[in-house]
Amino acid sequence: MIRKIVPLAFDSFGVRSMATYVETDDLRIVIDPGVSLAPLRYGLEPHPLEWKRMDETWEAIKERAEEADVLIVTHYHYDHHDPDHPELYKGKSVFVKHPTENINKSQRGRAEYFLEAIRGMPKKLEFSDGKSFQLGKTTITFSKAVCHGTNPRLGYVTEVSVKSGGECFLHTSDVEGPSLDDQVRFILDEKPDVLFVDGPMTYMLGFRYSYKSLEISNENLVRVLKETNLQTLVLDHHFLRDLKYKQRIKPVYEAAEKRGVKVITAAEFCGRKVEMLEALRKELYAKYGEMKYEGEKKGTVKE
Ligand SMILES: [Zn+2]
Ligand SMILES: [Zn+2]
Repeated sequence: MIRKIVPLAFDSFGVRSMATYVETDDLRIVIDPGVSLAPLRYGLEPHPLEWKRMDETWEAIKERAEEADVLIVTHYHYDHHDPDHPELYKGKSVFVKHPTENINKSQRGRAEYFLEAIRGMPKKLEFSDGKSFQLGKTTITFSKAVCHGTNPRLGYVTEVSVKSGGECFLHTSDVEGPSLDDQVRFILDEKPDVLFVDGPMTYMLGFRYSYKSLEISNENLVRVLKETNLQTLVLDHHFLRDLKYKQRIKPVYEAAEKRGVKVITAAEFCGRKVEMLEALRKELYAKYGEMKYEGEKKGTVKE
């Protein structure tokens, strides 16, 4: 059985992340233990309330990572791993995106740095791309490397499925859609009951994310609803940087309603209110001004 799925840090919480804790009968897993903030949005630096939220969510990630058996890194962006806290990986079974195959230059450099930082710490370290691992009664399956978004410019990620007792949870990592065939193929093959997706990157709609990509992503998500027995679809991360996100995926809401599938954000999944701090950055400065925040500022503002 999959006992618990706990979103730890997501854009709907007010930070950039898809960090998720998953617990089965015999395994505790954290997917992508990292969190960051947009260095600039609307030309503005992160508001102190965002720094505060990042510290809070990092604490939640750390707490779960410390008790976990398995840590997974789907790719080497800083909102998905944190090379400054190698101690987190001590004694864990660690599954990482392949550091030299199907990777762009920037992520290749970061992968090398990260793997050097954690060297000797994990109990076991595996390159995950396209592989499946049986750990007790839990199966963890990784997609082959799929594009980060709609093309390979930003590199590649692995999607992750966790299966136990006939139940399946799937985390897509940064697919920004999914708009590509192999990104959606993995979901259709794994047939998740609960699916966490990095939804379409519509805050860049018309310049860095095309209307065509949005249309195809909507079609693909509808296809997932029709061809699997999905119960809950969580759309978050890049998608929750757009204040108009709900207007972008009308066909998905319609198809989900017909089938009784919930389409929600990670915040709603765990009963929190949606707090799109990055997308509301202008409003935060208007309402609260500069404020002072003297916390530790863990995490990063690097992309
Ligand atoms: Zn990324
Ligand atoms: Zn990301």
